Amino acid sequence: MPKRYLTIVLILALVLGGCAKPSVEQKQYNATFLDVFDTVTAVVGRAESQEAFQAAAQQVHDELLKYHQLFDIYNDYPGVANLKTINDNAGVAPVAVDPGIIDMLLDCRAYYELTGGKVNAAMGSVLRLWHDAREKGNKLPEDEALQEAAQHCAWDTIQIDEEKGTVYISDPDQRLDVGAIAKGWAVQKVAETVPKGLLISVGGNVVATGPKTLDGTAWVVGVNDPDGGSTYLHTLNITGGAVVTSGDYQRYFVVDGQMYHHIIDPVTLYPSRLWRSVTVICADSGLADALSTALFVLPLEEGKALLQKCGAEAMWVDQNGDFHYSQGFENYVRT
Ligand code: ADP
Ligand code: MG
Repeated sequence: MPKRYLTIVLILALVLGGCAKPSVEQKQYNATFLDVFDTVTAVVGRAESQEAFQAAAQQVHDELLKYHQLFDIYNDYPGVANLKTINDNAGVAPVAVDPGIIDMLLDCRAYYELTGGKVNAAMGSVLRLWHDAREKGNKLPEDEALQEAAQHCAWDTIQIDEEKGTVYISDPDQRLDVGAIAKGWAVQKVAETVPKGLLISVGGNVVATGPKTLDGTAWVVGVNDPDGGSTYLHTLNITGGAVVTSGDYQRYFVVDGQMYHHIIDPVTLYPSRLWRSVTVICADSGLADALSTALFVLPLEEGKALLQKCGAEAMWVDQNGDFHYSQGFENYVRT
């Protein structure tokens, strides 16, 4: 819900702006963009001048916009072969694509294997049924349609040719949907090329490219309450890396008084009901995004085992509003 994101991000920017410790040469600036990944992007950071910050923020924006277009499955852009182009050509022909798409899909396949199939960018056929139902807002997808779509979610029909730079979906009924990973993955790529000391938030998918000040002061990143409200469940000290949250409140619709959100368990083909939200702290933002979605459909102990393999930490909010933490999460907690 963009309006909610706007409020959260503005609060974050104000809070962070408010605690700025001006260093001798650098001041803190911020910028906001509304046209990437259907959400609000905020960039906060120190720079020697407004112009220097503006240049860095513009670079963040332009690179995010490029990835937004490449990973879009709903819209065409003139002169761009994107994921929609690949989906439209399922069972028809391989599509020559930007190396960013190849890299992204190779990572998606690795995340699929890493998470035991819990985060599956190749299950667009299933996710499309839920997306369409959410758009209409009054009816669930038919079970028969879900079962049929689930027959078209394997990775062996996704042919990624690194040498030729092409992607081909050989199953005409299969679709890619990288919604669970794209934002975090794109922010990671961008963070690797922009100056140190920026905090970039794309719809709450947060990455710090270094500490807030030259002497190493941490950024303060808030963990949202899934029930809304202006107070954070926790604030975290972050000097680098990513904080990513998946929650049932982000996109949902209601049928017969029951809420149906946007994170689908690949086994039941229905929204997972285990958690209200999961927040992941991880050095790599692409992995953090994949993990936040995977943990959302995994029981606590399996989630903890997965985190250990990845060197990441997480906090879960369950259906009773109780909190659960991985062992090292507390090292980041400020309040
Ligand atoms: P958000 O992007 O809204 O912050 P997530 O990162 O958890 O939240 O991703 C949710 C999106 O990922 C959904 O809108 C859908 O497109 C896709 N998705 C949902 N469930 C899965 C899943 N199990 N595996 C892969 N993609 C999923
Ligand atoms: Mg995710």
